[in-house]
Amino acid sequence: MRHRTLKIDSMIETRFESVAPGNPDPQVISEAAEILRKGGLVAFPTETVYGLGADALNEEAVKKVFIAKGRPQENPLIVHIADRDQLIDLADEIPEKGLHLSKEFWPGPLTLVVRKTFLIPDVVTGGMDTVAIRMPDHPVALALIREFNGGIVGPSANLSGKPSPTTAMHVLEDLRGRIDMVLNAGPVEIGIESTVVDVTVDPPLILRPGGLHKESLEDIVGPVSLAATKEQRKRSPGSVHRHYAPRARVMLVPGGDSAVLGRLLAELRQQGKAVACIVHSREMARVETGSLFRVLPAPIDFYARYLFRTFRELDQEGVDVILVEEVAEQGLGMAVMDRLRKASEATNETS
Ligand code: AMP
Ligand code: MG
Repeated sequence: MRHRTLKIDSMIETRFESVAPGNPDPQVISEAAEILRKGGLVAFPTETVYGLGADALNEEAVKKVFIAKGRPQENPLIVHIADRDQLIDLADEIPEKGLHLSKEFWPGPLTLVVRKTFLIPDVVTGGMDTVAIRMPDHPVALALIREFNGGIVGPSANLSGKPSPTTAMHVLEDLRGRIDMVLNAGPVEIGIESTVVDVTVDPPLILRPGGLHKESLEDIVGPVSLAATKEQRKRSPGSVHRHYAPRARVMLVPGGDSAVLGRLLAELRQQGKAVACIVHSREMARVETGSLFRVLPAPIDFYARYLFRTFRELDQEGVDVILVEEVAEQGLGMAVMDRLRKASEATNETS
């Protein structure tokens, strides 16, 4: 399938500013907001991953986000807000379950898909009549949005298809010369994107598992479903694109199966491949040691926090294949497995 992607035509200077995560310098935040007001691009930390900010109501600014990331135009963006009052401009109608969820989990790693107002340019939503909205739980993101005084689109601040950035250095690696500013507040807390929930349908439908668990959603609004069919996944256009993938090929190994891991390692090395591993269970952790054998021990929060970073590091080591141990699909494990599957599908594509 071919997707429309706009091309970048000139490089710009990217300012890199470090701020205290809990107490960012108001002067720096004010300069960052001014860049957004002028239609520029500012990468900022959130609790999930670093986002690439632009004025959500400025069509030209939003177009620049797609160009800087090399993002297919039909992949819609999430609008980030800092206060519920901002919803008036953005959302046409919020069903009751959506309201309950927002009251319980905002700020936090929850994105709600709702009917949009006419103010939101088509470029934000890929022409759909719904918009995805989130209130991030990070003092720097919230300060920036408040100072800007409007909604900010905030896709992950990486080149489209690559693992999402969990540090400001990752943002620079991918976007230096393509964006105006990076706000550095150190590594993020969660390391995996938000949970996207469509609340225009009942029961609510998880379009993308993420930092907020299905179980937590269900505690508040009862049963929610998980987009499984192709038809359902089409409602989240981003989920059909190549995503979250390192350059190296990703192969998944069943949890705890050290025999399979050992066999694959031997086979791939015999083919002359440089192989790295990412494991977590005790059985698997015993298979080898060394800088290409990464153990991300329990709890799963830790695995999620370091997964994308480890993909990037192993790419820098120049490995050909990364063998990754699967995790149990509960809690945050659902989002981790979603990303692992997409990474393995993307890197095993033959076309
Ligand atoms: P990213 O910005 O890379 O974290 O991806 C945003 C995700 O939200 C993508 O998977 C999109 O498909 C999804 N999304 C954004 N807006 C909408 C929408 N209006 N309806 C359904 N899914 C959306
Ligand atoms: Mg992304």
